[in-house]
Amino acid sequence: MDRTWFSGPEDGIAALVAYALERGLIGKSDVTYASNGMLDALMYEPSGSFVPKQAIGRFLATSSGPALEEILACLLDDAVERGVIDGGIASRDLLDTRLMGCVTPRPSEVVREFRDRLRVSPEKATDYLYQLALDSDYIRTYRIAKDRKWTTSTRYGDLDITINLSKPEKDPKAIAAALEKKGGDDPYPRCQLCRENEGYAGRLDHPARETIRLMPLRLAGGERWYLQYSPYVYYNEHCIVLSEHHVPMKIDRTTFVRLLDFVDQFPHYMLGSNADLPIVGGSILTHEHYQGGRYTFAMAKAQLREELSFPGFENVHAGIVNWPMSVIRLDAETPTPLVKLADKILTAWRSYSDESVGVLAETDGVPHNTITPIARRRGKLYELDLVLRNNRTTDEYPLGIFHPHQELHHIKKENIGLIEVMGLAVLPARLLGEMQRLREVILAGEDPASVPEVASHAAWTAQILEKYPQYAPENVAKISKADADALDGVLQEEIGQVFAQVLEQCAVFADTKEGRRAFARFIASIQ
Ligand SMILES: [Zn+2]
Repeated sequence: MDRTWFSGPEDGIAALVAYALERGLIGKSDVTYASNGMLDALMYEPSGSFVPKQAIGRFLATSSGPALEEILACLLDDAVERGVIDGGIASRDLLDTRLMGCVTPRPSEVVREFRDRLRVSPEKATDYLYQLALDSDYIRTYRIAKDRKWTTSTRYGDLDITINLSKPEKDPKAIAAALEKKGGDDPYPRCQLCRENEGYAGRLDHPARETIRLMPLRLAGGERWYLQYSPYVYYNEHCIVLSEHHVPMKIDRTTFVRLLDFVDQFPHYMLGSNADLPIVGGSILTHEHYQGGRYTFAMAKAQLREELSFPGFENVHAGIVNWPMSVIRLDAETPTPLVKLADKILTAWRSYSDESVGVLAETDGVPHNTITPIARRRGKLYELDLVLRNNRTTDEYPLGIFHPHQELHHIKKENIGLIEVMGLAVLPARLLGEMQRLREVILAGEDPASVPEVASHAAWTAQILEKYPQYAPENVAKISKADADALDGVLQEEIGQVFAQVLEQCAVFADTKEGRRAFARFIASIQ
């Protein structure tokens, strides 16, 4: 990183304001105002020779000017040196978001721009909002760029795999505990999805949100909802649609209405909801929200493996999707019959039990059955995928029967939420280091079971070595350079295959003869 341009906060402020001016985040009249906001955030008093309007000159229209990441790094390091903040990542993130907040347009301005574009086309509106999220550093592209991404071909299509290096992983038990936590402890904002986050300066345990912008929407005949982007960008234009109320996730008829209403207003985006029960739901169950975006998941590309017909719904095309999990797909020219049939299927599923495949609707009155729904447009058609879920646990499967089983936890033990269901694995950051170490261990002909960092992968590695004997300890000494170089790809491929197994284990009706018969019995029970 070249830091010769930086000799103090004045330079950093001038560079940042010049950046904001060039990206159109602010106008010329905002230069002094924005600079003064930054001086305050940095707790820095310049001398009278600092004139922002002049200082920005050397950074304007210089194609070789410092990158945003570099400008912020210089300012943050300086703030650490001057004792304004400690050097921790949380404090740094709070301060650089505050700095960017000084040059991010006000919500009313963004809403006005968004609506002006919406009148032209929904695509223009989301293009504007997404670009703003990038330019304002709400989405930290330089951090996202560190994520590892690849695809793996499976019998269900090309699954997406991401090792996430920009967000910490969550423990399913902590997620369930957060749902339990009621009253007593009542922080502001109540959660990371509440609309009260807009402009919030954050705390060490809550991210700064000076740069987030929420677009008001009306769904389901007038309810107030908001559209925002996810700062983590698990896939292209990953957005979140959230309720104005901090109310728990709930899947019901209105959920289907809202999802279809959204894809009616934004036909280039899909929108889905996590299920409303622990284990099979997402990481936040306490605030009703959906996730969408401009991305075609493997699940959307999957075809039907079987056609279905529901009496009284002749205008709905239905079928079972060729997918590892149990998915009913409905298509129609208008949303109304889809909502009606989806509601009928949901109602039937909520109370459905089939002990022969481990599906019980409840245990002592605590419900287990729910649905992960996903809405999209397919040309003129409206499409709804209903993924059947059950969160029952047993002594054998304490984390869930229809959840990745013990032998796959070395790759994935977290909840299988909406994004995974659609065929995109979000894998924990620890895996990257473990795979690097495992590669060394294999190439050294060592036994992974004797190396603590990768011992959890030992059984899996044994299967890999059987499939690729060139990496077996007895052959590895004379391995070719090409084979050694190919090992990374082999490990990636095998992680992808594990993910396909993870999804298979989450199927309430396995894709086996017995499972298909059980699926057919459920379908028959809906009629
Ligand atoms: Zn909330």
